[in-house]
Amino acid sequence: MHRVLITGGAGFIGSHLCRRFLDEGSEVICMDNLLTGRLQNIEDLVGHERFVFIKHDVTNYIHVPGPVDAVLHFASPASPADFERLPIQILKVGALGTHKALGLAKDKRARFLLASTSECYGDPEINPQPESYWGNVNPIGIRGVYDEAKRFAEAMTMAYQRYHGIETRIVRIFNTYGPGMRIDDGRVIPNFFRQALKGEDLSVFGDGSQTRSINFVTDLVEGIYRLLNSDYALPVNIGNPIEMTVMEIAERILRITGSQSKIAYHGLPPDDPKVRRPDITIAREKLAWQPAVSPDEGLERTLPYFQAEVQRTRVD
Ligand code: UDP
Repeated sequence: MHRVLITGGAGFIGSHLCRRFLDEGSEVICMDNLLTGRLQNIEDLVGHERFVFIKHDVTNYIHVPGPVDAVLHFASPASPADFERLPIQILKVGALGTHKALGLAKDKRARFLLASTSECYGDPEINPQPESYWGNVNPIGIRGVYDEAKRFAEAMTMAYQRYHGIETRIVRIFNTYGPGMRIDDGRVIPNFFRQALKGEDLSVFGDGSQTRSINFVTDLVEGIYRLLNSDYALPVNIGNPIEMTVMEIAERILRITGSQSKIAYHGLPPDDPKVRRPDITIAREKLAWQPAVSPDEGLERTLPYFQAEVQRTRVD
């Protein structure tokens, strides 16, 4: 891929992708409206001769001069805390933004990769979730803005593939963590790290028995890279199949930070999925991909980043 457009390129995952494509020798156009993305995530890339940043809201027409070989559509707020705060923006970027990004891919004859999500499965009735599962989503709930936007985005992507014949890929991303997350983004891992490092109580929602499967960002990026370069045109789950309860995540973070913080119980948000675990058979078979980083190793590699963020946000 010579020239790659990454929407949401200043976000957590987008910025890791920018770095990966620069490392592979590509020219990277990073597009972001900085709603939840941050220049801080790409400050080391600005000035790189093969990197350009364009501040743009992709719900509006996307204009990129010159050739583009791949469009990776990663723009969207993605934390449950954003679902209440930014519901219309989330629906717009999933629907209108995906349409604009697909339109650009069609125009440029570029390959298109959609960042989709395990949220397509909603509160799943089967565990683990294979790609063939259609999901259990509440369309009018608070989480519905994200789930339905991504489900629409998948439908639109498949329509462009079938009707316009463009090459498309869909990655269903399961809970991912690592350096570059906003410390106050409201998700479980930034919250627990921040609270543990500040000696505050860890906010466990519900009784903490709900499960998640947490994947380190370098493993996700590797999966996405392989998927883009594969010939597999249906959705692929990328996540770490090691499933743990939220309470276990809290315990691991307390151990890794050496914190004396206690647990404080809060109400469970509506429609919070009770279980989540990827079936990665397709990723293994079609992409020869599986996670390489264990949860403990990934959390340890993430610790210095959050330590620095706690310091930085104190100074600010
Ligand atoms: N959660 C929690 N405490 C927090 C933030 C989240 O117990 O401070 C729980 C949340 O209810 C969910 C899980 O952790 O069951 C993962 O939440 P997150 O917001 O990271 O993303 P989700 O997987 O729900 O999209």
